Amino acid sequence: MQNLTKNPTRLNLLDFTKEELEEIISPRFRVKQIFEWIYQKYADDFSQMSSLPRQMRENLSEKFHFSPLQCMKFEQSADKSIKYLFRLNDGLLIESVLLPMKPEILDEKGRVLKHTRYTICISSQVGCKSGCAFCLTAKGGFKRNLTAGEIVAQVLWIKKQNKLPYERRVNLVYMGMGEPLDNLKNVAKAVRILSDNSGLAISVKRQTISTSGLARQIKELGELDLGVLLAISLHAVNDKLRSELMPINKAYNIAAIMDAVRNFPINARKRVMFEYLLIDGVNDDLSQARELVRLLNGIKAKVNLILFNPHEKSPYKRPSLEKALSFQDFLSTKGISCTIRQSKGLDISAACGQLKERSINNS
Ligand code: SAH
Ligand code: SF4
Repeated sequence: MQNLTKNPTRLNLLDFTKEELEEIISPRFRVKQIFEWIYQKYADDFSQMSSLPRQMRENLSEKFHFSPLQCMKFEQSADKSIKYLFRLNDGLLIESVLLPMKPEILDEKGRVLKHTRYTICISSQVGCKSGCAFCLTAKGGFKRNLTAGEIVAQVLWIKKQNKLPYERRVNLVYMGMGEPLDNLKNVAKAVRILSDNSGLAISVKRQTISTSGLARQIKELGELDLGVLLAISLHAVNDKLRSELMPINKAYNIAAIMDAVRNFPINARKRVMFEYLLIDGVNDDLSQARELVRLLNGIKAKVNLILFNPHEKSPYKRPSLEKALSFQDFLSTKGISCTIRQSKGLDISAACGQLKERSINNS
């Protein structure tokens, strides 16, 4: 393992795009090899990079490290999703989740026909400034933005740990702790590093950025034209309720968000995802479903209904599945494609941020 005490001023190599490294490492052609060693061959240390000259490996390890986080614990739920708690080098904690979406398919001889389809849910900040009333991450306040390399490292570590070869396709969702668009610069850089063909090569079309609706930054993200997918956490159809649930709505109201979404560049075959958290007796009435249909009129949208995951710091309740199904039916009959998110990992720790909270309380 890399010795982190060796030189505390060493830079995190995962913070750099290939192009940036080519400016500081010579000869330039070695950078592609370094990327392949780290992101494709899952090297633990520079000393394993046998195609590089020995002196170069030594120089690199004087200047760089690529261990910005350590896994403190992980918990697997009955549905096989795994929640990871990571400690950053300054001691702060974040979490990520590996979610098996579609099971493995075997042929009659037991050979793998199709591998398990995974989605990795990653954090973009330690805590969050947005302060949503239902969210556990919000309760701990905001600590700091993650660097691009700390975002990238979550994916790298999880793929490596689970022995998923780099070329095995995964989907990424920026739906862990934090508001990705409040850390747009580093998130955009992480998208670029994660999609680099000499690295993990995760297509931008498989990366979804979820936001509480920072309209100005949605516009900025659109201007970057990265090609990523966009998910909007809407959760309410009128400004009064939305501002109660999500204080950020006072800065960017529903109309401002819809306007930003209408102008967002998306692939002709894709849609913007609207997440709608169903909270019992608060926003799960069919009159609200009707209003949602009206709001989405003219937008290439799909809706993902989420059943509220209860936690001890919130008075809100989870609605019944029947309620969710009738909400879904209503949207479907109006021609809106709508899924209900399976509540992965409910038995290990319900909402985002709960694993971290529990571990702090226990220590
Ligand atoms: N900050 C971004 C991304 C992280 S939150 C955002 O808000 O979109 C990811 C998703 O988890 C959001 O849709 C959020 O509303 C949802 N969420 C937060 N608390 C939840 C809870 N207790 N139960 C279910 N979903 C929750
Ligand atoms: Fe932040 Fe998203 Fe939680 Fe709201 S739901 S507090 S934006 S992490």
